[in-house]
Amino acid sequence: MKVEGRKALVLGAGKSGVESARFLAARGATVALHDKKAVEDWSEAAGALKTKHGVGLMSGDIPSWLLDQIDLVVISPGVPTNTIPARYVKRKDGEVIGEVELAYRFMKGRIVGITGSNGKTTTTALIGELLKNAGIMTQVGGNIGTPLLSLTETSRDDGWTVAELSSFQLETIVDFRPSVAICLNVTPNHLDRYDSFNDYAAAKHRLFLNQTNEDVAILSADDSTCASWASGLRANVVMFSVKRELESGMFLRDDKELVCRDGGSEKVLTTRNQIFLRGLHNVENVLAALAAGLACGASPESMRETVATFKGVEHRIEFVTEIDGVKFYNDSKATSVDATSKAIEALSGGSGKTILILGGRGKNAPYAPLVPLIESSVSSLVLIGEDADNIKSQLTGVATIERADSLEAAVELGFSVAKKGDSVLLAPACASFDMFKSFEERGDVFKRAVLKLQERITLSAEAAATPPR
Ligand code: ADP
Repeated sequence: MKVEGRKALVLGAGKSGVESARFLAARGATVALHDKKAVEDWSEAAGALKTKHGVGLMSGDIPSWLLDQIDLVVISPGVPTNTIPARYVKRKDGEVIGEVELAYRFMKGRIVGITGSNGKTTTTALIGELLKNAGIMTQVGGNIGTPLLSLTETSRDDGWTVAELSSFQLETIVDFRPSVAICLNVTPNHLDRYDSFNDYAAAKHRLFLNQTNEDVAILSADDSTCASWASGLRANVVMFSVKRELESGMFLRDDKELVCRDGGSEKVLTTRNQIFLRGLHNVENVLAALAAGLACGASPESMRETVATFKGVEHRIEFVTEIDGVKFYNDSKATSVDATSKAIEALSGGSGKTILILGGRGKNAPYAPLVPLIESSVSSLVLIGEDADNIKSQLTGVATIERADSLEAAVELGFSVAKKGDSVLLAPACASFDMFKSFEERGDVFKRAVLKLQERITLSAEAAATPPR
């Protein structure tokens, strides 16, 4: 792709947009970077593009005289593809792509692409470790944090790039072709941005768009949407299931063995009790990751060791601490009803119950799917944030409901109603933006509140144990 001399407009001044603007300017394009936020509020890195790379910075309406000159638009994942500047440039035959597509055109080596509504980051990080530990030259990026574009320079012909991809990122690919592509699941999510579930699923399906019969597509057999795609793909399909034995593919047998069956031969790759991560959903992630590892040539022995030691990613059913027999878990990343179900399931099975902290900015998805799990495993709900009233109206009568004004208050309240052996779980099923900058900040606030509570309880226990002088 020729970049030099082009006139590019990058939409969105977040991480991905900043990297795109830098990349294009460094290769001789004239670049304008736009965000709806006022330029004064942009990050330092975005602001510095002007002095370091001569990038024009702008917010507000983009004048049509400027759009008339643009022949390349790079859209950030957060910006809808039907935004006026993109439509305008496309109509006059300009190129409109995303950062992932731009990166692909400069990336050496092969790519593992991971998408799905839930489990992307965990699976991406795990595949990165599986490949690295098997001695394969690997780099990890995309939606997980490091923009793919910044990995192009370090990519090698004999290496792999493991890329987490959101549906937003997939909307703007054109030629992007992962040698190994995974879709973990497709459940109602982002219905605030998509007109329908089908539109959302169609965006995820684009991951397989350019694959050929030399490539591998890994799909959940347990997810009806993913399973329905299997027969229509050009790539070699590997299915995985935690629910049943497959004639061919990867599956969990008798809740114990993780089996790879290929035609007539069969191999037990590891066992459930050797997986460090909790929950059946993580067995799904491990099966998908193992399938990808096999497709990339990692040895089963090395993968078994990695799976046993991989501790997961922060803010995903992360154990915080135990106070007076009550365990605290941070699953701030559970921003959908489905992810929350998985977290409740993962903690169920013991003698104790779960106190669930739920709420935040709702995503228009119903909470009713949580009802059976709440009835069996949750004793109390502590509601926070904007969607608390809506949640209350949908879940009244299913468990005791408490209301808290802050996450700190929710931690206190959760602990006050918990019994020994119970767990307090933050798995809000909502986005964080009503009260926090990000789910990471929400998780950090939760962990700090838990540790503060622990300090107070310890101090008061010590004070009670000290005999008066
Ligand atoms: P993503 O990057 O897709 O958001 P994460 O790995 O960050 O996925 O996990 C997001 C949330 O989804 C966490 O709360 C986690 O416990 C839950 N989760 C992880 N894997 C799965 C899965 N396979 N199915 C459903 N939920 C999952």
